[in-house]
Amino acid sequence: MQRVDQAIASLRADLETLPKRLKEADAKLNGARTAVASAKEAHTQALTQRKKFELDVEQWKERAKKYRSQSSSVKTNEAYKALQQEIAHAEAEALKGEDRVLEQMMALEEFERRMKHFEADLREADQAVTAEKKQVEAQFAEEKKKLDAAVAERAEIEKKVPEELRNLYARIAKRNPGSAMAEARGEQCRGCGMRVLPHTLQLLKSEADEEVFRCEGCGRILYSLEPIPHTHKEAANGAAQS
Ligand SMILES: [Zn+2]
Repeated sequence: MQRVDQAIASLRADLETLPKRLKEADAKLNGARTAVASAKEAHTQALTQRKKFELDVEQWKERAKKYRSQSSSVKTNEAYKALQQEIAHAEAEALKGEDRVLEQMMALEEFERRMKHFEADLREADQAVTAEKKQVEAQFAEEKKKLDAAVAERAEIEKKVPEELRNLYARIAKRNPGSAMAEARGEQCRGCGMRVLPHTLQLLKSEADEEVFRCEGCGRILYSLEPIPHTHKEAANGAAQS
């Protein structure tokens, strides 16, 4: 019963970690999605900015063209000079604007490169997470099956244990989860290290004796896996010498 209980506890603990693994996988995927979204956003903004710079250039060129067409109809020298200045200014601004467009195009290339990089990351994360989820689901199904089997096995074992002993086991297990029973080996309780009286050990090893012995130190139910002492050779092996 203790062996099955330990298996049940370990399976339950395992099963509890699986939803956490799914959550972590989803978080990873969400992180990759966010990175792609923000890279796209930055790219879109840079694109808008480039269009604005291009429009600026067009406007300054348009203005220079307009001033130039006016220069033939100017009456005074002063007005002509002023117009020439306007033309020079507009042309200079158009040139500056062209530089800005060029810079922006280079920045756009960088944004595009980043966007593709994050998109590749996302595809990779997506594949990894899909595989991880499949694996977790398969593991969950397998462990659930084992757990159901262990629970059924425990119910079968429980039927064979007298109620009084079952209750005692349950009481001690509450204090010592997974180890209501302790092996008595080398004249010691393996649960707490307390000495076990040779007489008690003797009785534990005897198949004929049905009495339940508890450790005087920790109260665990004692059992012995050592062979019954009638076979001298095996008994000597059991008391391992250093
Ligand atoms: Zn003990």
